[in-house]
Amino acid sequence: MSTDESKTPRALSRRTVLLGSVAAGSLVLASAAPARALTYTVKTPAEHAALPIVWGYPFASRATRGSGVDGYPGQTYSGHIGADYYVNPRVGTTILAVADGTVTAVGDDGDVSRGVFVIVQHAAGVRSEYLHMERGSPLVSVGQRVFRWTPLGRTGNTGDVRPRTEANAHLHLAIFSGPHRTGTVWNPAWLIEGAPLPVTSPTAATPVYRFWSARYQGHFYTASAAERDGIAARWPDIWSYEGTAYRAFTTEVAGTVPLFRFWSAQYNGHFCTTSAGERDSVMARWPDVWSYEGTAFFVYPADSSAPDTVTVARFWSPSARHHFYTASAQERDGVIARWPDIWQYEGDSFRVPSASVEN
Ligand SMILES: [Zn+2]
Repeated sequence: MSTDESKTPRALSRRTVLLGSVAAGSLVLASAAPARALTYTVKTPAEHAALPIVWGYPFASRATRGSGVDGYPGQTYSGHIGADYYVNPRVGTTILAVADGTVTAVGDDGDVSRGVFVIVQHAAGVRSEYLHMERGSPLVSVGQRVFRWTPLGRTGNTGDVRPRTEANAHLHLAIFSGPHRTGTVWNPAWLIEGAPLPVTSPTAATPVYRFWSARYQGHFYTASAAERDGIAARWPDIWSYEGTAYRAFTTEVAGTVPLFRFWSAQYNGHFCTTSAGERDSVMARWPDVWSYEGTAFFVYPADSSAPDTVTVARFWSPSARHHFYTASAQERDGVIARWPDIWQYEGDSFRVPSASVEN
């Protein structure tokens, strides 16, 4: 449930108004509107379809929708501005980002309102909000870039979930644009219910694209095709597109572990590690140099014996202050042979599916 996030006065909750209206035989709540009337704009199916966003389903398996957005498809809005999704298991199922974006909020309202929540800003001013998450489950932090199907946390029944039972645990997914209470409500049912489930087959893992910058003497990696295209269009003089570096998973697949990622504005480069110990050490020792971005993808650990995988080698350049990763044994050996003074080979960092790695 959760109505209008934290703003609905408890004395005149949506539930109270709705039950009263139903009892009176009224389908519309106009005569019983809360004192602080909501003036959201709602959009047509055609306007939903025209959003320039590539959507993904928020779970690895299909869920059942409970309450949807009030008013849709009747173009009026009365109180419930998201859609409730019930998935199995009810508590503890991983929630996935519905599109590429940046995390703008991670919070906990306690046992009222949103409970534990995450907000992600997408393209075109659209944001998605994930409510009632399991306490302690968020996997992302503010400022972190996420991709379609990046795990955000797990389902739970925190916040305004009544009754607060395990069976009633669900994801309240709201999709908005514009100011809170006066912007636009988008209908999740029309945006994500037809969207694909995350890719979990090793042979169909998501491409991770690589750019090279002669200016920064370093690489940039992204699993977002939209980000790839944006960088290619905006900074062609700085970042040269090199193609698919390797493939990885945007959700947890059996045998995989999180790949933690840092960004350095000082070095203009990424640093990735599967070691929680190394991650914590970098966070503690160089907080001014390396900004922790959270889990970038899921990969196999370096010592994994999963079939059909290849190792990703890691290099460090003291002069360029950049890490370099490659899943190509040929490229690794070439770098070791040709530039031993520039690139120091640091060993096998992690493993990825061998499918479509050009070797
Ligand atoms: Zn809800």
